[in-house]
Amino acid sequence: MGHEGAGVVEAVGEGVGRPSVGERVVVNYVNPDGTCPLCLRGREDLCERAPLGFGTDVVFAEAVAVEARNLVALPAAVPFEEGAVLGCAGATAFHATRRSGLGPGMSCMVVGLGGVGMQGVQVAKAFGASPLLAVDVSPTKLRLAQKFGADVAIDPGREDSVEVARSLGDGRGVDVAFEYIGLERTLGQAIGAARPGGLVMMVGIPGGAMTFDAQAFNLGGKGLQATQGHSGLDLQGVIQLRASGVLRTGETITHRLPFKDIGRAISLLESGKEDLVRVTLHH
Ligand SMILES: [Zn+2]
Repeated sequence: MGHEGAGVVEAVGEGVGRPSVGERVVVNYVNPDGTCPLCLRGREDLCERAPLGFGTDVVFAEAVAVEARNLVALPAAVPFEEGAVLGCAGATAFHATRRSGLGPGMSCMVVGLGGVGMQGVQVAKAFGASPLLAVDVSPTKLRLAQKFGADVAIDPGREDSVEVARSLGDGRGVDVAFEYIGLERTLGQAIGAARPGGLVMMVGIPGGAMTFDAQAFNLGGKGLQATQGHSGLDLQGVIQLRASGVLRTGETITHRLPFKDIGRAISLLESGKEDLVRVTLHH
C-alpha cells in the first residue's frame, strides 16, 4: 500500500522526450531498470533493481520522482483513482492471467475477492473465462464479483468450493485456479479445484511455509505457478482494457478519502470491514 499512484507530470529531467509536462500517467511501481539479467530475459516483473517496488510507500506524498520509462500514459477517460488501482491490483491480475494462458472457453476459479482478486475476476472475464467461479466468505464481495461477470459465486463457509468446481463441465475441475490471498486454506481450495493437468496460479503472498496434498497434486499432474508484479506491457494492457470499457475498475473502489485522512484510510483497511474492497486517497 502506498506504491500505487497516478497523477500529472509536473516536471521532466533534461533530455526526457516522453512523457511531457501535464501528461496524465500511472506509476509503474515495479520500476524495472530494463538492463539487469532478469529484465533482459523479459522478466521485468522480477527486476533485480526495482528501487521503488512493492512494499514501499513512495506515492503517499505530494510528488514522486520516477524514471520516465516507468510512467505509462493514462487516457483522459480513466480517472486517476482508477489509474492507481490499475497500477497495482489491475496489473498484477493482468500479469497473472496472461501468464496462466487463460483463454476463451476455459474454466476458471478465482479464490479470494480482495483488492487484487476482484480485479482478477474482471480480467479473467475479459480473457474469456467460462464458466468463471468466484470464491470468498463475504456475501458483499460475492455479489460484486457476480456483477463483474462471475458465473458462480461460492461461499466456502456454506459449500465446498472444490465440489462445486467439480460439479461443472466434465466434472474434472477447472482449467485454471487463481489464489489471491496467500493462505494455506485458500491455496488448498485452488489446488483441489484445478482439474487433472490444470494450473494453479499463486498470486496471494503467503506468510511463510504451508502444506498441501502433494500426492493428489502430483498424481493429478497439476501445475503450480507463482506470480508477482508485472511488466510495463502488462500495465499498458490492463489500462487499455479499462479504457475500452471492458473493466469496471471504478466499481471496485468502495471507500474514497482525501489525502489528509491517510491515517483513517489505513485504519479502515486494518479493520477488515466486510464491505471494503478498495480505498483510494485523493489530492
Ligand atoms: Zn531489471
